[in-house]
Amino acid sequence: MRGAPHYHILLWIENAPVVGIDRPEEVCSFIQDRITCHIPDSNTSPDLNFLVTKYQMHKCSKFCMRNIKVGKTYVSRCRFDFPRPVRDSICINDVENSLKSCNKIYYLKRNEKEVRVNDYNPLLLKLWRANMDLQYIAERSLSLTEYVTGYVTKAEKSHAQDLWDEVSSCDNIYSRLWKIDQKLLRAKEVGLYEASDLLLGESLYMKSVTVQYVNVYLPHKRSRKIKNYSYLTKMDQSSKDIFNPSIIEDFYPTRPNNMEDVSLYEFVANYKFDKIGENGEREY
Ligand SMILES: [Zn+2]
Repeated sequence: MRGAPHYHILLWIENAPVVGIDRPEEVCSFIQDRITCHIPDSNTSPDLNFLVTKYQMHKCSKFCMRNIKVGKTYVSRCRFDFPRPVRDSICINDVENSLKSCNKIYYLKRNEKEVRVNDYNPLLLKLWRANMDLQYIAERSLSLTEYVTGYVTKAEKSHAQDLWDEVSSCDNIYSRLWKIDQKLLRAKEVGLYEASDLLLGESLYMKSVTVQYVNVYLPHKRSRKIKNYSYLTKMDQSSKDIFNPSIIEDFYPTRPNNMEDVSLYEFVANYKFDKIGENGEREY
């Protein structure tokens, strides 16, 4: 189903051979030991046969077909490269050319019945019990790194140009602002599953790493958060103490003596301001 939740996962395997560095035979045997498109025999491997035929067969539809320019004409091609070519044995292609022509950097051994099978790992498929498409991507140049990071940082479609065209057609600033508001709320593409998760309050993603931003520009270039309005109106008008305390201006320079050797990085990563202690000093 379109918009169904799925994962893009990068698996790092220690000491994996790399295209362009290790011998092609080593790369081929590494791939073949882990990735296959084989449809196993239904008598000897009934469970795997069931999983492959139920979840791994790709049917082309209007969502995967793309018009691709080949020479001077356009041809309609599946963006997942189905049907994949029949091969007697695995073969490795040139990386640069493969990326330019949207071909895979290698083709697995594949017979006529397997041209629509998504490449998989038998053990992972038995554990996952749902569709997967596995690809080996270790190579020396930066081309594949660029391709992978492009995937990870793919922006959401938001019809930005339409938005600006329509907003610019409004005369005054308030109707422009209103238009932006309306457009942003309505224009985001949301699949059925994503909409359900949002309505049910399920979080769409989680992360184990928290990022804390610390502005380490020189003092005259640092932006500061100003104290709230009611505090400012009540304070001594000649005072210049108008900013909220910050890590780099206040908390770090005035840290207790026993934290003298703690670096700014360690301070931000490991400590949080707790309270003012009995001796009047801040505690972390
Ligand atoms: Zn397709």
